[in-house]
Amino acid sequence: MSATAAAFAPCITTSLRKPSSSTCFARLSNNSQSSSSSATPPPSLIRNQPVFAAPTPIITPTWRGDMGSESYDEAIAALKKLLSEKEDLAPVAAAKIDQITAELKTPDTKPAFDAVERIKTGFAKFKTEKYVTNPALYDELSKGQSPKFMVFACSDSRVCPSHVLDFQPGEAFVVRNVANMVPPFDKVKYAGVGSAVEYAVLHLKVEQIVVIGHSRCGGIKGLMTFPDEGPHTTDFIEDWVKVGLPAKAKVKAAHGSATLDDQCVSCEKEAVNVSLANLLTYPFVRNGLVNKTLALKGAHYDFVNGTFELWGLDFSLTPPTSA
Ligand SMILES: [Zn+2]
Repeated sequence: MSATAAAFAPCITTSLRKPSSSTCFARLSNNSQSSSSSATPPPSLIRNQPVFAAPTPIITPTWRGDMGSESYDEAIAALKKLLSEKEDLAPVAAAKIDQITAELKTPDTKPAFDAVERIKTGFAKFKTEKYVTNPALYDELSKGQSPKFMVFACSDSRVCPSHVLDFQPGEAFVVRNVANMVPPFDKVKYAGVGSAVEYAVLHLKVEQIVVIGHSRCGGIKGLMTFPDEGPHTTDFIEDWVKVGLPAKAKVKAAHGSATLDDQCVSCEKEAVNVSLANLLTYPFVRNGLVNKTLALKGAHYDFVNGTFELWGLDFSLTPPTSA
């Protein structure tokens, strides 16, 4: 099957909107009142108690300028105890002592990050501004989902497709992973991605699968810089991003003299094409294309310049399209 996929459509420039809130993970409460009200008890998922208690002598992970010297002394003592118990930890412990000492010498003016509070206020904002104000939508979603799109996007915190493309709940069935890869059909190695594609195509009957690459992708930079052969230095990352090896080979052959940054930009797009080609190894995807119930698209979101490119898969059935 030919992997010739890319006919790059004209670049669409949009105003770049900085994400102002994060995806909410909490389960929706049936309480119709806003949970931001002080009179309303927080959703049951959120407990007003620490979610993590560090056993001694583990060091409290957050250090503040107002910490007393006793805590500092205890931390140093704990580290020295570790040091004496495990000699091979010596360099690590010594570095940690230096880091703590340096941090304590530098006044930290930033307030400590409170993860639980961030999640509570995020969900309260979502519920007040979106959930409560769209009862018809959420009533419909309670009955099921019928998204038109399946989207592959990178796990990178800067490229959430719901923010970038303004997808509303129910619009897009999303898979996010390192470097937005779609591996080839493999029931053993890639059951996670395979089950998502199977569910989206056969059960949700999505009409479009869009694979979205992005600028400054760490996974793609890893692909371009990791050695192709030899022992891995990571447990998972190298093996995973090697799904994109055909893209790396193509970029090295065509742009081998370019800077690493430029090669990475090319590879961010070529890796999308490899994913589109890999989607063709899924029988139900091929059937959808032949029956014209399904279309594949590639995309590249550049958050440095605020642009979004979209292109179609040249499957000899439909011309490349742009949005
Ligand atoms: Zn990425």
